Formats: sequence, C-alpha cells, structure tokens
Amino acid sequence: MIEIKNVKKNFGKLEVLKDVSLKVDKGDVVVLLGPSGSGKTTLLRCINFLEQADEGMLTIDNQTVNLHTASSKEKLQIRKKTAFVFQNYGLFQNKTALQNITEGLITARKVSTKEAIKKAEEVLAWVGMLDKKDYYPSQLSGGQQQRIGIARAVALDPDVILFDEPTSALDPELIGEILTLIRNVAKKGITMIVVTHEMSFAQEVASKVVFMADGVVVESGTPKEIFYTPKEERTKKFLERIL
Ligand code: ADP
Repeated sequence: MIEIKNVKKNFGKLEVLKDVSLKVDKGDVVVLLGPSGSGKTTLLRCINFLEQADEGMLTIDNQTVNLHTASSKEKLQIRKKTAFVFQNYGLFQNKTALQNITEGLITARKVSTKEAIKKAEEVLAWVGMLDKKDYYPSQLSGGQQQRIGIARAVALDPDVILFDEPTSALDPELIGEILTLIRNVAKKGITMIVVTHEMSFAQEVASKVVFMADGVVVESGTPKEIFYTPKEERTKKFLERIL
C-alpha cells in the first residue's frame, strides 16, 4: 500500500539516509526504532516533503512519485494522503483548537466550513477536548496540545499518519495518556508509521518493527522477532542498552 524505495538524503557531507526502502501494508502500525541520529525523523519528513530527499521513490495508494523531483502538484497530492503528528505538536499558535483542525480541512481538503466545524467537533470530542475547542495552544498543556495534533491528523482521514516522536516533548506523567490515544488511533485501522522510543508501546501496538541505524534499515520484523530474536548484532546491542 505504501512503498518507499531507495531513499537517500545528505545534509552537507553527512549521509543521513543511505538507500532506505520500506513496505507498509494497509492497516499496518510500523514502529521505527533506532539510536538517535539514525535518520528516522528525516525519513518521515521526506515521505511528507517536509524535507527533499536526494533520491528515492514513494508509492501511496497507487500513485508513485519521485521524492527528489516531484512537482508541486504531486507534492500536494501526496500530502493529501498523509498527515503528520509532530514532536512539538506543530499547532498554529494564533488559532484555536477548533481552527487548528478546520484549517487543513478547508484549505487543503476543500471541505465546506460547516462540514469542517462538524468534523473538528467530532474529533475533539473523540480526544476528550471538545470543552477546550476555543482555547489557544498557549492555554493548553503539552498533553492537550498533542491531543489536538492527533485529532487534526485523524480529521484529515489520510491513508497514513506519520508520528514523529509524539510523546518525547511531554512530561512523564502525560506520556501514558497520549500513548493510549495513539493506541486508539491504531484500533481504528488507520495505517501509521511511528518514530518512538517507547519500547513497551512498540511491542504492544506495532504490527511491524523497523530497526534503523546509521541511515540504513538494519532489520525489520514482527515485534516478537525484533525484540526476542533479533538477528543483527547492531539490533541486539541497541536492545541490550535500552531494555
Ligand atoms: P533520528 O530521528 O533517528 O534521531 P534524524 O533524522 O533526526 O535522526 O537525524 C539524523 C541526522 O541528521 C542527525 O545527525 C541530525 O543531526 C542530522 N540532521 C537532521 N536534520 C538536519 C538538518 N535540517 N540539517 C542538518 N542536519 C540535520
């Protein structure tokens, strides 16, 4: 359903992605694991054109584009099929919770204002934030802001949601509730690619775990395979350090 092929990306002399390929099936929850600096975030950002890859192809829902040379129209088409949940929430500071959700629906999805408000209220209720719909991000806690970030992604009804370390900016006591919310997104059957350091979450929720190091996919498999019978030395070393 989603195929990423031969993605390469350098920042100056630094080779951040060295020929990364990945296949994701519909409904998959793919967790990207790996040491800091291994290129996980950059890979997610290349899929959504937040970064321009130097090489590579992306197929989503039968549309294939070149990640380096895609036209503005192609980028827009791919962005319509994806939604991004940011580490620092990525909310518009000058818009209310409700407006943060309606904005993309109205401008990118061309939904009527009335429909967009209805959808936004529906997802705000789903994340338990309807009573805060007129609050601005600065009036909300990190956990509440991330609820809005996740509600916004779900409202767009994308083919895939890309989560970039969605809990790493949160205070420890708020992490659990956001992970529960992400579990509930997964239960909806939405395809997801999640960069996270939350290992128990990865073990429980992932249908596939991809271990990256130094800009390459070292190995991938079911959570059981990766956590209990890793094949590669680099995976074993990483797991020993963190588990
Ligand atoms: P990970 O998500 O696995 O921690 P990243 O994709 O964030 O890794 O980063 C991979 C490497 O690329 C790191 O060394 C990081 O410093 C570098 N990097 C990421 N973004 C940029 C950028 N915009 N400019 C220069 N270097 C970057």
